[in-house]
Amino acid sequence: MGSIRQLSQQVINQIAAGEVIERPASALKELIENSLDAGAQSVNIWCDEGGLARILIEDDGSGITKDELPIAILRHATSKLKDDGNTADLTNINTLGFRGEALPSIGAVARMKIQSRHYLSSEAWEINIEGGQVSPIKPCAWAGLNSGTRIEVRDLFFATPARLKFMKSVRSENIAIIDVVKRLALSRPEIGFSLYLDGKISFRTKNHDETEPAARIRDIIGADLADDCLVIDVEREGVRLYGLASLPTASRSDSRFQFLFVNNRPVKDPMLKGVARAAYQDVLAKDRHPILALFLELEPKLVDVNVHPAKTEVRFRDPALIRGLIIGALRHAIGEVSVRASTSLASQTIGALGKSLQQTDAPKFYQGNYNYTPAPKPVQTGFYEGMPREFTPQQAPAPMARAFEEPQTEEVQPQSSPQNFPLGAAKAQLHNTYVVAQTDEGIVIVDQHAAHERLVLERMKAAMNETGIPRQLSLIPDVVEMDAVDCDNLLAKADELAQFGLVIEGFGDGAILVRETPAILGKINAKELLKDLADEIAGFDNAMRLKERIDEILSRMACHGSVRAGRQLGPVEMNALLREMEVTPRSGQCNHGRPTFVKLSLNDIEKLFGRK
Ligand code: ADP
Ligand code: MG
Repeated sequence: MGSIRQLSQQVINQIAAGEVIERPASALKELIENSLDAGAQSVNIWCDEGGLARILIEDDGSGITKDELPIAILRHATSKLKDDGNTADLTNINTLGFRGEALPSIGAVARMKIQSRHYLSSEAWEINIEGGQVSPIKPCAWAGLNSGTRIEVRDLFFATPARLKFMKSVRSENIAIIDVVKRLALSRPEIGFSLYLDGKISFRTKNHDETEPAARIRDIIGADLADDCLVIDVEREGVRLYGLASLPTASRSDSRFQFLFVNNRPVKDPMLKGVARAAYQDVLAKDRHPILALFLELEPKLVDVNVHPAKTEVRFRDPALIRGLIIGALRHAIGEVSVRASTSLASQTIGALGKSLQQTDAPKFYQGNYNYTPAPKPVQTGFYEGMPREFTPQQAPAPMARAFEEPQTEEVQPQSSPQNFPLGAAKAQLHNTYVVAQTDEGIVIVDQHAAHERLVLERMKAAMNETGIPRQLSLIPDVVEMDAVDCDNLLAKADELAQFGLVIEGFGDGAILVRETPAILGKINAKELLKDLADEIAGFDNAMRLKERIDEILSRMACHGSVRAGRQLGPVEMNALLREMEVTPRSGQCNHGRPTFVKLSLNDIEKLFGRK
């Protein structure tokens, strides 16, 4: 009875602090956001012992006036939200902060010293707050002529030992700190940042003139991504999406390098990982993730930023529009780069070649006067029976047909070569696996198996979108014996499989009769194909329609129609392969996201030989 009491302001602040300040990185995030909101051009940060011992942040923003210093540390005191005593416009927020909670929360659980010089004043003032106890303000020394604010936070969570127990190692707190600073630094290329951990520089960024992200991405994620990436810039229904995304060949094994900014606010949206997966689905293996730095700009009204105390999540008025916009833009960009060389990949190749050259006992120099011995004439095998019929010139797309108008001789003649095509003129096949082609600016090496697998997949997808996959009748139907469960699973989907070009029937217990197979695949091993499909389908929910997993099914099938490594190709076939790659979307990666070709420029080759 009579046991309900109002909590003291101190305890209220500690409880509230628990939501906003979860770990050192979240305190630092709030402090940096304040600096950015204050118009700082440079933000310098020092953290000791994972930020638990000390966080120090200095900015050159507007500063805080003497009179306002004691107000800034009060709960729900902010200069950023106009409150007419009745309502505030929470739908139109243009600053990172607006809740007036960060400074009082940090002050409630740590020892905080704020020093600031307002831009209209020549004096600097200081206020201290320790575990919620505020000391009177006093004047302080201020180095430098500019306005700004310097905040030092010591012994975070000393006042809430329970929370202190939850802290992880210094190492993992440091990782979280670096992540927070990088995200904010990425969002504002024009602002210079530096971060010191235990006295050592962790990273530093320059002030960039432009507000576009490429320059900053180079500082933070690496030049590899900034120089060799998909550039996104689209707009739909007043929403602009811009930024950079990695080529499928430069993926990572986790999704840590996926950054999303909404009106320049770094947000963690669980949607992003799924959206990225959907967009890169058929160019990346399941366990690979693209690198993304995507910026959304939309009217503040269309996004609610007040859904999370730490303001790291947002809610979109129309989430489907945003999802669709991102997936569509990424897919479009991926489709466009089908025949683009990955230059960083080429430089890795050069690096590797350079190393291996140094390791060989090659003679120090070669004397000129080469005797040119022509390579053995490629054996004209004609069209291999497993070679899909679409490889014949008659059905070739336009540029490919043009390639065939050249006089056909047994050997590829340099003069008549389609060398000015992006993938050049095929010159040789090495190890029965790699096609080497000459272009105007260098050479191209194609992995014929990987490339062909991709082409078959793309053809199947196109056919599926149009009339369905054409089938070919097996003259003598194959009977494939299989495990009874696999048989049942496959037969249950027989109607659907027919649309994929595969006609099967039950054949007593534990066997399946294969009547027709996808014509695109050419001659295949039906047993292997059925086994693979059974494996794929085993992972599906029973009620799931195969069409929902069209990419998985088709890529399983495409593997079976590929020119396996080890088959000899004639010049006509090699050139046809190159021409088809040029006109096929996404042909730069195999179905597993590996590159299908690399380009080496003459420049690179000259470097390799020390000519440059
Ligand atoms: P919010 O950012 O939500 O307004 P905070 O508790 O983070 O709340 O900060 C309270 C107020 O203190 C801010 O509204 C701002 O006026 C002032 N302030 C905090 N940090 C700085 C800073 N680095 N430079 C200038 N003013 C600041
Ligand atoms: Mg704030």
